[in-house]
Amino acid sequence: MLTATKSRIAPGRLLVNNEWTDGERQFETINPATGEVLTQIAEASKQDVDRAVRAARRSFEDRSGPWRKMTASERGRLVWKLADLAEKNIDELAELETQDNGKPIFESRYVDMPMVADVLRYYAGLSTKIHGETVNTNETAFTYTLREPVGVVGMIVPWNFPLLLASWKLGPALACGNTVVLKPAEQTPLTALRFGELAIEAGFPAGVLNIVTGGSETGRAIVQHPDINKVAFTGSTTVGKEIMRSAADTLKRVTLELGGKSPNIVCADSDLDGAVRGAINGIFYGKGEVCNAGSRLFIESKVRDEFTEKLVARAKKMQPADPLDPKTRMGAIVSQEQMQTVLDYIETGKKEGAKLISGGNRVSLDGGKGFFIEPTIFSDVKNDMTIAREEIFGPVLSMISFDDVEQAVEQANQNPYGLAAAVWTRDIKRAHQISRMLRAGTVWINTYGLMDAALPFGGYKQSGFGRELGAHAVEHYTELKTVWLNMA
Ligand code: NAD
Repeated sequence: MLTATKSRIAPGRLLVNNEWTDGERQFETINPATGEVLTQIAEASKQDVDRAVRAARRSFEDRSGPWRKMTASERGRLVWKLADLAEKNIDELAELETQDNGKPIFESRYVDMPMVADVLRYYAGLSTKIHGETVNTNETAFTYTLREPVGVVGMIVPWNFPLLLASWKLGPALACGNTVVLKPAEQTPLTALRFGELAIEAGFPAGVLNIVTGGSETGRAIVQHPDINKVAFTGSTTVGKEIMRSAADTLKRVTLELGGKSPNIVCADSDLDGAVRGAINGIFYGKGEVCNAGSRLFIESKVRDEFTEKLVARAKKMQPADPLDPKTRMGAIVSQEQMQTVLDYIETGKKEGAKLISGGNRVSLDGGKGFFIEPTIFSDVKNDMTIAREEIFGPVLSMISFDDVEQAVEQANQNPYGLAAAVWTRDIKRAHQISRMLRAGTVWINTYGLMDAALPFGGYKQSGFGRELGAHAVEHYTELKTVWLNMA
């Protein structure tokens, strides 16, 4: 039996200047496990976005206002307090995320939400370590640099890790003293809205964090707004390109975290059981709706049969089930539309001659209204097939065999994306050499998908630019000012 919506969810409103307001129009947010409407959400118009930007601008520009008067230490404490509140409400946030997105509660409760708190705390601590430098130019000058906040930051996030990806942007933006207009994805707005309530409870001054819900039109209004200084975007490469073009008109700073088609290379000398677990985790965690999913698995021919047998046995055990059940490891695809996209890719894989060796079907649970797909594995895939080239963003693995690891690396790099990659081998020197050859923002050795608030994450090539997480993120949320004092 699927668990019904746990409690009544209030309609979502817009947060502008610490006040909740209705939009002129509304849209529904759906529980993908049951197909039922969770609640109505306000759709922010261009005028609503403008109100939010003006509130953010006022709060940023007011030098005698509470936000600009705050010391770095005070800002850090406020961000820390928000982390505490997120942690205090972790069960509620995790449940909202699971109901809105379809991901297993195990993931929301024990991975996403703890990392939200961790990321906020990392940047809370960093707020007092943001500094410029003094530069010795000549004896009659005092020259130094200041790191100042960029200003009003527009944030646009996708539906796969809704609150977590927002926290990657909010942490550094707030720690650096910016003000924010945040747009969560239309499929998954609930946790961002609850987070807005927590920000007010923490004591963030009016206008510092504004939240506008809506779809692509709301996003476009953010990107086009002349009074936003920077856009931080996570989402598809197609939309990322549109944002970059559109941001050029007002010369906004942009950081883009985009799609991926990450290679996971398994050498014959690796711990095969560990590599099987890593491959399963790499592609089926988060239902495969993960930007860094290990969706292309390169397996050395010598161990292909043994590896495949173990892999399929594990995949078959991972049947989709009620996302709110703590034992579930495979949840519901985020939307009917995304489910159809994934099923279409599976058909394309079959037509292009790849061998379907596990899964491949929609699963009907409890009346069949939910959007569930079996963990799916294709073998005999060629690197130029559609399912090996394009991001599917679902639980579909493409297996490609190799005899020579250098050729595997070459094929791994033959893709427009470059977000992440992994290599499994007991030869550590070789592993480091391969890491250097792979054109990707993250390379895992003998593991897959691990992240830490302190480690930069982001893409090469068409996976975007600008790193999130880690101390370098501060560079993307500050301007560098040079000051020259004449002492002659
Ligand atoms: P999407 O690009 O369709 O939407 C992302 C966000 O952009 C949503 O909030 C959406 O409303 C908004 N949007 C859509 N069109 C817009 C436009 N023209 N202008 C402004 N905003 C617009 O992506 P999605 O389907 O929600 O998410 C999946 C994609 O996100 C995948 O490609 C995935 O790889 C990528 N992703 C990347 C990372 C990363 O860190 N690199 C992380 C998660 C997801």
